[in-house]
Amino acid sequence: MDSVQKMNSFLQQGEWRGLYEKAAAGERFSEKEALRLFESKDLNALGAMASLVCRRKNGARASFIVNCYINYSNYCILSCQFCAFARKKRDADGMQFTVEEIASKARAALAVGVTELHIVGGLHPSLPFSYYTEMLRALKAVDARLQLKCFTAIEILHLAWMARKSVADTLRELREAGLDSLTGGGAEIFRPEIRSRIARGKESAEEYLDVHRTWHKMGGRSTCTMLYGHVESLADRVDHLRQLRDLQDETRGFTGFVPLPYQPENNDIPVRVPPTGFDSLRTIAVSRIYLDNFDHITAYWVGLSLKLAQVALNYGADDLHGTILEEHIFHMAGATTPQLQTEAEMVKAIRETGRTPVQRDTFYQPVKIWNAPPGEDATAAGVSQVLESNLASA
Ligand code: SF4
Repeated sequence: MDSVQKMNSFLQQGEWRGLYEKAAAGERFSEKEALRLFESKDLNALGAMASLVCRRKNGARASFIVNCYINYSNYCILSCQFCAFARKKRDADGMQFTVEEIASKARAALAVGVTELHIVGGLHPSLPFSYYTEMLRALKAVDARLQLKCFTAIEILHLAWMARKSVADTLRELREAGLDSLTGGGAEIFRPEIRSRIARGKESAEEYLDVHRTWHKMGGRSTCTMLYGHVESLADRVDHLRQLRDLQDETRGFTGFVPLPYQPENNDIPVRVPPTGFDSLRTIAVSRIYLDNFDHITAYWVGLSLKLAQVALNYGADDLHGTILEEHIFHMAGATTPQLQTEAEMVKAIRETGRTPVQRDTFYQPVKIWNAPPGEDATAAGVSQVLESNLASA
């Protein structure tokens, strides 16, 4: 009996029997079954099931993107309790960039091989709608091939409200200016009782989902998220996943799901311990099994560390997110991970798990595939050296 057969016979025993058979047959899990998975302490069995589902969808490939984060401003009219990023106009460390400053960052990013700019900010009290459209046009003028993944659902609602436009018209005008994809941020936890405890004043679950629905029905694509490990219960997580799965059934517009581990510093939530490794791995695994209509599950290294994100590739994840270059939102909330990863580090992390590294674009299409054995991949090493030397001189 080989190791796979041994694992299969192990999973068919006891508490896992019916669940494993469902996963193997590609059948849909109910909310009750997802909760059972969450409540199990048998992390390795859960990971084996999630890997089975992941391999069926993505084979041996695991991906990352060469991207760059830009926060155009940290001024925000809201004060979500979990947020360490937002500032008021009276704060000395508030900031906002001009369109030309953002274009200059884009030029620097392009020089190190970035294919995607990931751009979000707070809900700015006064910037006109033309600022956002001019920003998108200026970035496309830098290089039309740069993929612009910008704005959370609450930013879209805010822009629409400030400009007195419908959400559909707002999205249409942003798309005409160059918007390629919406980001998935701001989903937090959908259940209203929890949402009001961590993000009072923020858009409702229905509003978040409706912005994405509107965008998907226009032919747009986006990712989605869940902030876990604070005051929510496991049942709240399952409820959140169900709502995402329902919308995906309706639109098929989500390209991937990104579970975000809560960061406990510099905020008003009385939880001072971030999610454990066990909790993060089981959340990724249950997400992979339950979200059967999603192609991709991301292990977000900024919150997890690259080491745990790498392990998550054997617990249902098939994507490590991006090189990022400069992350602020999680780091202001206490993340101790580096500000960036090089392409070589991503490739090494993936290859060590026995998977084939793939550099992807915003829509998870392959840009580059590393088939060469370790130590013989001059392309990967060369690109990383460029990245590092450019950053060193920045
Ligand atoms: S999470 Fe977003 S909307 Fe909430 S305070 Fe922070 S920047 Fe503003």
